[in-house]
Amino acid sequence: SFFLQKIMDELPQLKIGFIGAGNMAYGIAQGILKPGDVVASNVIVSAPSKNNFSRFQAMGVSVTHSNEEVIHRSRLVFLAVKPHLIPTVLSALSEHVTPQHIIVSVAAGVTLATLERLLPGGSCVMRLMPNLPCMLQEGALLLACGTGVKQEVASLLKGLLSPCGLVEVGPESWIDAHTGLSGSGVAFVYVFAEALAEGAVKMGMPSALALRFAAQTILGAGHLLRDGEKHPAQLKAEVCTPGGTTVYGLHALEKGGLRAAVMGAVEAATERARELG
Ligand code: NAD
Repeated sequence: SFFLQKIMDELPQLKIGFIGAGNMAYGIAQGILKPGDVVASNVIVSAPSKNNFSRFQAMGVSVTHSNEEVIHRSRLVFLAVKPHLIPTVLSALSEHVTPQHIIVSVAAGVTLATLERLLPGGSCVMRLMPNLPCMLQEGALLLACGTGVKQEVASLLKGLLSPCGLVEVGPESWIDAHTGLSGSGVAFVYVFAEALAEGAVKMGMPSALALRFAAQTILGAGHLLRDGEKHPAQLKAEVCTPGGTTVYGLHALEKGGLRAAVMGAVEAATERARELG
């Protein structure tokens, strides 16, 4: 649309701010700056201590101790402080937020209703749930829009964040499941990696090599799944020679209840996210 085209054309001038200079702010800033459409000197980040400033400065991003300065100098503002700080931080900033601002919170568990209550009526507010691999531009990100968000703004955000990984827009009710699947899921995959490697160690392979092969196996399987058109069941069938090694291994996995355990893990993490929210 006209609005979106206008905003995309204005990307080199778009002023972007981060409140909080932690890992999430850094991961998102890196992704946004990567394609080169956004100018680093138009990006500003705030935090009370200067501990985390140097890696932002290394990217050419401005730094400040004043959250207010970030609001004044930015059109798009990411809230990237710990969730318990959101009420304090927003209460202090609310009077400086205008209808031109686009506010995107990454704080886990802080609902759109809470954010909207803390900001002036009609504010453009979104929730973004990223995960750790965002740091490597391989994140899985879900965006949920508040009541005052135009479709064009959601599209802008989706495009802007796409270098961070897979970005989808969905209802807020999916955020907790996404936290269980993609946020906590990263740790579930690490358990699987460790177990794969330990299986090989048990069968005589040195541990360091087994871990490297386990990581590469997960990465390769992930690429095939993500970049191909095939359902996991089909990919799995292609590896299963009748009477061969894989089907014997799969039988052992089923006896161990892997599927039920993994489904239960996502369910438990999702329910915990709901409790915290
Ligand atoms: P972090 O501790 O690395 O960063 C928090 C930053 O906020 C620090 O730079 C700190 O100095 C700064 N800060 C503290 N008080 C402040 C204040 N009053 N004003 C401005 N800045 C202040 O945390 P993180 O891992 O980057 O997480 C930030 C947010 O991202 C959290 O709300 C978390 O729920 C969310 N999140 C994190 C992950 C993850 O994997 N790390 C995933 C999804 C969502």
